[in-house]
Amino acid sequence: MQSSVTATSSRSGQSRSAGATTGRTVRHEPARGFSSAAPGSAHSRSAAISRTPSNETRTSNPTRSAPNGARSHVQPHQRNSRPAQVKNGRGGRVKQYIDPARFVSEAQKIEQEIYIPQNQFQDFKVQKRIIDNLLEKGYETPTPIQDQTIKLVLDGKDVVGIANTGTGKTAAFAVPLIHDLITHMENRLIVMAPTRELAQQIVEEMLSFSKGCNLKIALLIGGASMNLQQKALRAMPRIVVGTPGRIKDHIGQGTLNLATFNRVVLDEVDRMLDMGFIKDITSILSRVNPVRQSLFFRATMEDEIEKLIGRFARNPVTVSTRVGATVDSISQDVIWFGSAEDKLDKLHDILIDQQCSKVIIFDDTKRLVERLAKELLARGFKVDRIHGDKSQSQRSRAIKRLKTDEINILVATDVAARGLDVSDITHVINYSQPNTYDDYVHRIGRTGRAGKTGIALTFMQSNR
Ligand code: AMP
Repeated sequence: MQSSVTATSSRSGQSRSAGATTGRTVRHEPARGFSSAAPGSAHSRSAAISRTPSNETRTSNPTRSAPNGARSHVQPHQRNSRPAQVKNGRGGRVKQYIDPARFVSEAQKIEQEIYIPQNQFQDFKVQKRIIDNLLEKGYETPTPIQDQTIKLVLDGKDVVGIANTGTGKTAAFAVPLIHDLITHMENRLIVMAPTRELAQQIVEEMLSFSKGCNLKIALLIGGASMNLQQKALRAMPRIVVGTPGRIKDHIGQGTLNLATFNRVVLDEVDRMLDMGFIKDITSILSRVNPVRQSLFFRATMEDEIEKLIGRFARNPVTVSTRVGATVDSISQDVIWFGSAEDKLDKLHDILIDQQCSKVIIFDDTKRLVERLAKELLARGFKVDRIHGDKSQSQRSRAIKRLKTDEINILVATDVAARGLDVSDITHVINYSQPNTYDDYVHRIGRTGRAGKTGIALTFMQSNR
């Protein structure tokens, strides 16, 4: 199915298409859920979706034209003057030069090779209560990472899981470990995640998987009360989930003794290393009980991660269900703008389009996020915002409002890009260019999740 995105201009009242704005038609593919088929076929160990190689090596269709008639991703002035880095102009972080071609890509025609799981949830030897909770949540069939990881974890193996974000990693570790904790009262689990939002989501997921199992969970994240967290720790929770910085704070204050924890999960370990947590993680891991089971989840492979795993895991089994970059399922394009006014009008036109039903807009700084959110509110859009100056409860509230459709636009700094799982995000809009390509991938990974396709649009100034 192919359709162009039609929007009504705020000022002119004329109809125009986002395809025209962006220099091409945006392709919409029907949303896909997790695919499944009966267990036992020859395809059963293959990945859920097969895609052509990552778009990182592809260039976009050179015949597409931008509004000014140039190729959509290459502005003439940029061809011979390629700066290595670009300041973001507000005294902020130095931006890496990213070739605009990397922001333009059709969502790949995904050949849906149906993944045939080896197991149904009922096949795993875990407490029935957990299975019932999964079914109640609508999890009927294990995703590939769940299908291939749960049994290994139940067998006590250390596991390195390599999977795209949004493919069900949380249940892959949480289901077997919740069973383990219910059946072994002496065991305790610590989960580390790169961001507060991800840590919070993990707690929410674990609470829903373990409903009725009487497991206490403590959430240790920055921006929330130390006192309340200390109180939660005094109640001897069986599970602690947190970000490395706050976990270290508690260790430093003597309120968390990791020697009593013998199960450890590092989620999005590549993100944690990117964010500079290597020292904290190393120091935390060396305090966890040495007789333990360790699980590491990541989407990419880097030397530093290998070293970390080599040092802290015990003969780990690697499970890889990663199929190309997550960005392959996302239609990506550039929106060229001239003046600041033109930029806002173009954004307005995109947002009033019916297809644009749930959006995250990224901007550079807290101040810019506040300003844009106010502007959009004044224009009658249903908007909230998150950034580093917002308290944790304000951030959580904004995400909840987005999840429950009270609002459909969230304006955010990069703080929201990592680990945030809101289903049905149709568009990610980079109102400012990300600092690095890696940041770009993480921003746009908020759409196209859980087997769905999405659209990512990046604003770039034409300088003409
Ligand atoms: P995760 O990678 O754990 O963040 O999961 C991504 C999304 O997929 C979340 O919204 C989950 O609730 C959902 N999900 C995970 N596993 C399943 C499953 N087996 N069936 C249906 N939805 C799932």
